Amino acid sequence: MARVTAVSGLGAKGPACFLVETGQARLLLDLGYGPQPGLWPNVDGIGRVDALLLSHAHRDHAGALKLAPQVGDPPLYATASVLSALGRQGSGTSLPLCGAAEICGVTVRTGRNGHAPGGVWLHLDIGGGLLYMGDHGVESPVYAFDAPPAAATVILDASYGSYDSSLDDCARALEPVFERGLALLPVPSNGRGPELVYHLATALGTLPHLGADLRAALLRIASADEASLRAGVTEELARIAREAPPIAGCQGLMFTGYADATEGESARLVAQWEGEPRPEIVFTGYVPSGTPAQRLTDSGRARYVRWNAHPRLRDNVALARSVGARTVLPAFGDARHLDAWREAFAPAQVLVQGEAAI
Ligand SMILES: [Zn+2]
Repeated sequence: MARVTAVSGLGAKGPACFLVETGQARLLLDLGYGPQPGLWPNVDGIGRVDALLLSHAHRDHAGALKLAPQVGDPPLYATASVLSALGRQGSGTSLPLCGAAEICGVTVRTGRNGHAPGGVWLHLDIGGGLLYMGDHGVESPVYAFDAPPAAATVILDASYGSYDSSLDDCARALEPVFERGLALLPVPSNGRGPELVYHLATALGTLPHLGADLRAALLRIASADEASLRAGVTEELARIAREAPPIAGCQGLMFTGYADATEGESARLVAQWEGEPRPEIVFTGYVPSGTPAQRLTDSGRARYVRWNAHPRLRDNVALARSVGARTVLPAFGDARHLDAWREAFAPAQVLVQGEAAI
């Protein structure tokens, strides 16, 4: 009997790390760090694994590769885009964005996750099927999503708990910020950042002021990562990267890479303007404790307006039904949502700790 064990990432927001044991092979799905500073998965009890598969390059899914020697330095599998983002082009085996591969005797299917460039869900053909979503989204105006095949067991991206508001609601909540027209928005360059500037340019006809790191990411996404994008998006992202003005002092709607402002241009500008009344500072993603994002939102200097980068509860329910899941592991969300999850996913059983037979 195959089984999956949540090493980290189940019952609370934390680094992703799941161990799959088939009887013939031991596979690790993701090896993340954070998102809270200093939060590493405890890999002490894992032992030697045969392969490490990564869903996408975000730090909380792929930021703990330095721990790989503790699990036997296994061969690394990820899409070419993710291997490149991690600087592992020469030392990993690339997975297709949408296709199949054979890893240690297990057929692994992949599809685009609608969340990040190069990001995929992973479907393992063991038992009744194990589907690991990593992070995913179905509302993204930029990133494409492929529907996964049937699976009896699903590890879902439940980052948002029982939250169920749409991306349109997020866009409406941000409208006053955009209308006032003077704001700094620190965003992840390889996630929500391109979505937000795309929304601003296409829905509102406004070009943002771009930090250098975000502009470089847009150029790369519109070329090397084009296959991760929805149809028709590439040209517009390339145009924004070419034509959007740089950040030159405190003016306009300014977007910088690094969402929690711990590094890069976001950190520098937040530090520069934290003590000033302007510009408005707005965070749109998860606010990890111990970061400038938390300090400024706690003090009232910055506002928090969520921009959906993960599935709503209704998206996860639809996904679990579409693949015929009998067991659901809602990952990356707080276990206090357990009652809501049980009700939403019934008759599937919901697990928020330990291991599941597949
Ligand atoms: Zn992610």
